[in-house]
Amino acid sequence: MRFHIILTAALALVGPAAAQEHAPHAGTWTYGGATGPERWSELDPANAACAVGQQESPVDLKGAITADLGALDIDWSPLPAAARDTGHAIQQDAPPGSTMAVGGQTYRLLQFHIHQPAEHLLDGRRFPLEIHFVHAGPDGVLGVLGVFAEVGAASAPLEAVIDSLGATAAGPALDPNGFLPTGRDFFRYEGSLTTPPCSETVDWVLLSDPITVSQAQVDTFERLHPGNTRPVQPLHRRFLLRSQH
Ligand SMILES: [Zn+2]
Repeated sequence: MRFHIILTAALALVGPAAAQEHAPHAGTWTYGGATGPERWSELDPANAACAVGQQESPVDLKGAITADLGALDIDWSPLPAAARDTGHAIQQDAPPGSTMAVGGQTYRLLQFHIHQPAEHLLDGRRFPLEIHFVHAGPDGVLGVLGVFAEVGAASAPLEAVIDSLGATAAGPALDPNGFLPTGRDFFRYEGSLTTPPCSETVDWVLLSDPITVSQAQVDTFERLHPGNTRPVQPLHRRFLLRSQH
């Protein structure tokens, strides 16, 4: 017993220094292993919400309450294809001028990026891809529109994204509207970034209808960033809302 107490005290003394020496840089988070989602909160104090947050994303879109959410107005302009690898996803930045309006708020499109497989589930179903269109809203809030993709016909704008990767000059104009399904039914909930620091500052909008991409396109993202998908988080006390048909 006494020995145990002394040993514990000794470990406490060397503990902090050893921890510092081995602490990864805040940016070195991953989707698996010692710096994976279960450890994100330990990589940087700023990532605390990843572990203790009560409004985290992604979630399973099930048990939604149907409500009058008003119209979802998307006003996006074509942009020069110039995708890049952030180290965690393939991302395409958007020049100013494209917006999304929902619930009386207008959000400005900043960028979109791709997760493989999807992060949100649709009543338990996981799609092979999910595209996140990240918009800036008022007061530091983000409005992220999520679009699911299933395997079928190839997506022309996704092909433009793939073609522009590593290209030295911007490719031809890419029309992001080509990523939108015909149906505009959507889910809404208050959530978070799905990457560190997991900030709970995101107004999530997810379209219920998927678009199609080819199996070859899915394979491309499986090769580039396999499994860049945060596990599903509990809904806790939040309401998940669904637009009326
Ligand atoms: Zn994302």
